[in-house]
This record gives sequence, structure tokens and C-alpha cells, in this order.
Amino acid sequence: MGTLGYIKGVLVATWSGVRHFFRPRMTLRYPEQKLDLEDAEYPTSPRRPAGLTPGYKYDPLQGVGIPGFKGRHILYFEKCTGCQLCAIACDGIAVAIDMQKVAKGKVQNKKDIWPAVDYGRCVFCGLCVDACPFDALYMTNDYELSAFDKMSLKYTPDMLALPPKLEGKKYKVEFDTEKGVAKHG
Ligand code: SF4
Ligand code: SF4
Repeated sequence: MGTLGYIKGVLVATWSGVRHFFRPRMTLRYPEQKLDLEDAEYPTSPRRPAGLTPGYKYDPLQGVGIPGFKGRHILYFEKCTGCQLCAIACDGIAVAIDMQKVAKGKVQNKKDIWPAVDYGRCVFCGLCVDACPFDALYMTNDYELSAFDKMSLKYTPDMLALPPKLEGKKYKVEFDTEKGVAKHG
């Protein structure tokens, strides 16, 4: 490389650095800063009922999936009949659902069996949600599932029934479809 090429290289690199110095930072300082996934605008769906957790859901009456984030599941004890269709659906995918006996005394679930999910196996496909005919199993925007041991990845029916916490400062994200980058603020 000649002297001219060297100087050109230094100038290009410096200019690139100067340009980016004035641009807003694209990365978040996780875990103190997080994406705001509680806003139903992410992702949008005209079919999403107001106030519903922005996770993937299936409407068994209309037979359509409602797009949403595919994070940790939420189980509704008052709707689940223990039919096991979610577990049967998962058997062909990841064998992540195990029906567990927990006394809840719900009339519609006389056997007292409820799905438990092993997130060490789950591939977050959502087929168990599609398979549930009783609107009892959705996915949520909870993506914080990392753990130090495999046992902690096994969520009991009681754990699945809890709504996600998602603590910490959250940032809204805008996607720039032309540049392929996100802005947050
Ligand atoms: S989302 Fe997970 S638990 Fe449900 S069918 Fe897919 S792999 Fe199984
Ligand atoms: S969550 Fe749905 S599919 Fe699974 S056992 Fe309960 S009612 Fe059946």
C-alpha cells in the first residue's frame, strides 16, 4: 500500500468513527436495559384483543393464530381441562410437555392434570398453543429463561400460571426497514 492509500485508509476510518459518534447507540445495556415488549405494538396484529399479553395466541373459535412474541407460556387453570392435546402436539416436536398432577379442584379438570414445560427442550414453536381447544395456553413476552442448571428450566403448572415479571428499565424500539437498524429511546 502506498502512502496515498495509507492516508486514505486513515481518513476513511476516522470519518466513519466521527459519523457514528453523533448517532444514537443501537445496543442496550442488558440486563439493566431491556426491550419494551409489553407494548402491544410489538408485533402488531389487528386481531389482538386490547390488553392481551403480546405473546403468541391461538383463537380456537376462528381457527387462526394471533401473531405475537413466542416466549414463556402462560397457563390458565380456570380453562384447562387436562385433555393433554398440548402434550400430544409437542411429542412430535420436542417432548417438552409433561402432564403433572396438581390438586386445583377445578370442575372442568377432574383428573387434576396440567401441562408442565421443560424449557431445556422447548423450541418455542407454538404448536401446543395451536393444539389447545380451550384457550388455556398462550405464549408471553417473557424471554428471560436462562438458568444455571437444567432442573430450573422445568416449569411446573404453578410456575406457568404466573404472569411474566420483566423487571428493569424498558426501551421502545423502532425498526428502520431501509437501513435494517433499530432506534430506541
Ligand atoms: S412451544 Fe415448546 S412446548 Fe409447545 S409444542 Fe413447541 S416445543 Fe413443545
Ligand atoms: S392447556 Fe389446553 S391442550 Fe393442554 S391440557 Fe390444558 S386444555 Fe388441554
